[in-house]
Amino acid sequence: NRQFVLAERPVGVPNDDTLRLETTDLPIAQEGQMLLRTVFLSLDPYMRGRMSDAPSYAPPVKLGEVMVGGTVSRVHSSKLVGFSEGDWVLSFNGWQDYALSDGAGVTLLGSNPAQPSWALGIMGMPGFTAWAGLLKIGMPKAGETIVVAAATGPVGSTVGQIGKIMGCRVVGIAGGAEKCAHALEHLGFDACIDHRSEGFVDELTKALPDGIDIYFENVGGKVFDAVLPHLNAHARVPICGMVSQYNVTELPDGPDRMGWLMGQLLRKRITMRGFIIFDDFAPLYPEFAKEMTGWLDSGRIHYREEIIDGLEQALDAFVGLLHGANFGKRVIRVGPS
Ligand code: NDP
Repeated sequence: NRQFVLAERPVGVPNDDTLRLETTDLPIAQEGQMLLRTVFLSLDPYMRGRMSDAPSYAPPVKLGEVMVGGTVSRVHSSKLVGFSEGDWVLSFNGWQDYALSDGAGVTLLGSNPAQPSWALGIMGMPGFTAWAGLLKIGMPKAGETIVVAAATGPVGSTVGQIGKIMGCRVVGIAGGAEKCAHALEHLGFDACIDHRSEGFVDELTKALPDGIDIYFENVGGKVFDAVLPHLNAHARVPICGMVSQYNVTELPDGPDRMGWLMGQLLRKRITMRGFIIFDDFAPLYPEFAKEMTGWLDSGRIHYREEIIDGLEQALDAFVGLLHGANFGKRVIRVGPS
């Protein structure tokens, strides 16, 4: 049983010293337990926060502990009522091949789910995040303009597509021409601007003749700087993530613009609200799942996944995710299905 444990807390970008690969004997399920074999491990930006011990909404992974992560697994052996060998489950087993479970926090996906890995993406945490953040905090109305960055990732792509279903104009921001082309051709966005382009700020301005009513914040940094002047009166800003800042080790150089920002919020009566998906919206998950299933079945939502083989690839794949090396939802195939 291979496990990646946290070896040291990274300063800046995680590197080869951050995690340590350990091998243990295969655990044996006792009465009331099952042994789960990981098939898919989800890679998500929040994992960077769990490697650090800075104050956060969730406790950090302790040194020497298995790195956390959402997993889709199969039941290898079971002495737990309700779970049989071969069943697929959604669990939180982290970066390892096998894990014992007493069933707490485990969701049964059945014996033959059509797209098991989607439970980590469009039908799981990222999809739910997009749905709740946009609809419950963004509160879009037909004809409004939505801007979302990380526009081809699992959260951003879903935000934009739901925005189109709601009748909004959707402007994406993504890294590179290929991702922008995907947002226009496959996701149905009205415009998509490459944040790496030299003319980024001007191109964004041109794409926003009517300003921004909802800015769904995924990245922060220079993208937020470019967006802020375009926010309309009564704009809503669901603050979902700040991925451009996760590896940053110090505050940016001045001048301090906090006063200016507060003035903008005041004069334009802007609402900004941070949220942590399951802490804030867990009871709405069934409503989301029903609506999203309908949209996927009718082809109104397009979902792109990037599956990488091998648990040993997980750290490189994760570091790449934080600076845009992924194209779609990044998942590690840990073991055969
Ligand atoms: P993505 O798969 O979209 O990966 C992150 C993307 O961010 C990269 O692919 C890259 O896309 C973009 N990015 C990275 N650095 C920068 C930068 N400096 N400037 C602009 N863009 C950058 O991730 P997810 O869809 O899984 O997550 C999106 C956001 O949602 C994250 O901030 C995450 O932390 C947050 N989140 C929050 C939750 C909550 O409960 N609040 C729950 C789930 C996710 P590109 O190449 O296009 O720039």
